[in-house]
Amino acid sequence: APVIQLKGLGKSFDGKQIIAGLDLNVNDGEFLTILGPSGCGKTTVLRLIAGFENADAGQIVIAGKDVTGIPAEQRNVNTVFQSYALFPHMTVFENVAFGLRMQKVAESEIEPRVMEALRMVQLENFAPRKPHQLSGGQQQRVAIARAVVNKPKVLLLDESLSALDYKLRKQMQIELKQLQRKLGITFIFVTHDQEEALSMSDRIIVMRSGNVEQDGSPREIYEEPENLFVARFIGEINVFDAVVKERLDETRVLANVEGRPSMIHCKLAVSPGDKVKVLLRPEDIRLEEINNGDEAQGIIGYIRERTYKGMTLDSVVELETGTSVMVSEFFNEDDPDVDHSLDQKVAVTWVESWEVV
Ligand code: ADP
Ligand code: MG
Repeated sequence: APVIQLKGLGKSFDGKQIIAGLDLNVNDGEFLTILGPSGCGKTTVLRLIAGFENADAGQIVIAGKDVTGIPAEQRNVNTVFQSYALFPHMTVFENVAFGLRMQKVAESEIEPRVMEALRMVQLENFAPRKPHQLSGGQQQRVAIARAVVNKPKVLLLDESLSALDYKLRKQMQIELKQLQRKLGITFIFVTHDQEEALSMSDRIIVMRSGNVEQDGSPREIYEEPENLFVARFIGEINVFDAVVKERLDETRVLANVEGRPSMIHCKLAVSPGDKVKVLLRPEDIRLEEINNGDEAQGIIGYIRERTYKGMTLDSVVELETGTSVMVSEFFNEDDPDVDHSLDQKVAVTWVESWEVV
């Protein structure tokens, strides 16, 4: 059974509906990420689950128990915020012990449990320090230790890594994921960072204005976005207008894309003449240089911009139809010569594409 069930959850602020009938099941031990732009209602969902806000409508079930209307401290859920808000005058040990003391856990139990939690975040040697003697990443780890020390069923993390600088954030993403696996606690992680969501999650919910736009694995969300919002929110994407010519088989149709007959991936029920949008990631596009007299297969275009990115060479190609296309080519041993000059004539092709009507 799912460890968390949200049923028809609704919440308004000042007469404005922020969450409208949200249904969501979270499985035991799952790392679920709620991903969406700022202001879409992510924090509100977490605060409703935690019990810091009361829902106007719907039901919240945690571990089989209806907790709607029950106070936060009785919900078996802890929260880690972006600003970790440690008590500055207390040692690391006392910060982590605080919740246990509040719960009147026996003194003899406190020491081993605090040290176990600190060991999990690799800070057992920092127990006597004060927060100001720690780096930002270490402080965030203390906040995590404090949140897991009383072994909650569910841990809610609201933009918990967003305040850290790039390198530390990457490292903490891996550590947090490992910790979650080790503890077996269900994590509901909120972020507006698509790369973070893709790399950490078992499952991602993409939210927009309080609604779920897509619910799927990281691969499904990235490779098979269900609509233009999801496609554009998760990474770079090219969108072409196309007209269906004929269905080839269950998953493919022949369509006119930028004036050229092309095979596209399409599972939707479409008929000849229907207009569809074809979505192509920059890394799914191939470029072949055309030099005087070469026979070219593909849509003709010209390199108008090129940006060296280390792992990839990113280009903007202007097609003869006027459309601009973003292309990302990897450097690898099979293709040592990825390097185009400006205004180079190229043929544009692709293997896989995804469509949205
Ligand atoms: P996110 O975390 O995705 O950025 P929030 O859940 O914080 O979004 O906010 C969603 C919307 O609800 C925003 O428009 C915000 O201004 C509004 N909101 C959130 N909390 C309150 C509140 N306590 N009072 C009034 N409006 C709020
Ligand atoms: Mg927020």
